[in-house]
Order: sequence, then C-alpha cells, then structure tokens
Amino acid sequence: MPYIYDNQNIFAKILRGEISCSKVLETKYSLAFHDINPAAPKHVLVIPKGAYVTYDHFAQTANDAEIIDFVKAIGQVCKILQVEPAQDGGGFRAISNAGEAGLQEVPHLHVHILGGRNLGPMLSKSQ
Ligand code: AMP
Repeated sequence: MPYIYDNQNIFAKILRGEISCSKVLETKYSLAFHDINPAAPKHVLVIPKGAYVTYDHFAQTANDAEIIDFVKAIGQVCKILQVEPAQDGGGFRAISNAGEAGLQEVPHLHVHILGGRNLGPMLSKSQ
C-alpha cells in the first residue's frame, strides 16, 4: 500500500514554522526538538524535513543525502544530550513508532531519543 503523507500533521506544521518547537539541532535535511510531553529526563525527537510517514518509508524512498544527514543528526543529538554510553551514567534508547501496531501518534517519521535515567524494559509483556 502506498504511503499517503498528511501535510496537516503537527510536525509538518513545525517544519513550516506554523507551530513553534524547542529546537535542539537543525541540519540541511533534519530537525531535532524536545518532546512536548517528555517520558524521560532527556527526550528529543529527530525528524527528517522531507515528507516521510515512517522509518521504513524513509529508508525505502529517501535519497542518500537525506539518509546520511538524518543518521548523523541522531548521532549529534546524542552528543548534545550527553547520553553517549561512553559517558558516566550515559546510554539512551532510540525508538521509532510506526503505524497502528506501533501506536504512532504523529504520521511524520520521528525517532525518539530518550535518556537521563534507567529506561526499564523495552516493552511491556502484558500487551
Ligand atoms: P509517537 O507516538 O511515536 O507518534 O510520538 C509522538 C510524540 O510527539 C509524543 O511523544 C508527543 O509528546 C510528541 N509531540 C506531539 N506534539 C508535539 C509538539 N508540538 N512538540 C513536540 N512534541 C510533540
């Protein structure tokens, strides 16, 4: 099934400057900002500027420059947040929820970078 991008989603509005965000990093093809409802002491969202719905959509259709930029932006955000595992108390989790089963709320690709505390088990076994 082809991906249909909804350009009225909240991150599209942030990218167009219609809604503000607490910016952490901006590169040619990517933007990173603090999650409005943080689930950990450090919680940043990294998004590509292009119209991609999910990680697989991006991986399958973005060009190499966008992909390189996005991967490097995630690395830079880890550095800015000081969650690199080599640091004392460091470590992070990168999550990208996709689609219905992944409980994705915002239909624009985003990678959550979470850290600043022990993040517990990856998934609840009960659900
Ligand atoms: P997901 O469930 O993976 O789609 O997560 C969407 C995330 O976007 C949630 O963690 C929300 O708190 C976050 N979010 C929604 N609106 C905003 C906003 N305007 N600025 C920053 N983060 C937002």
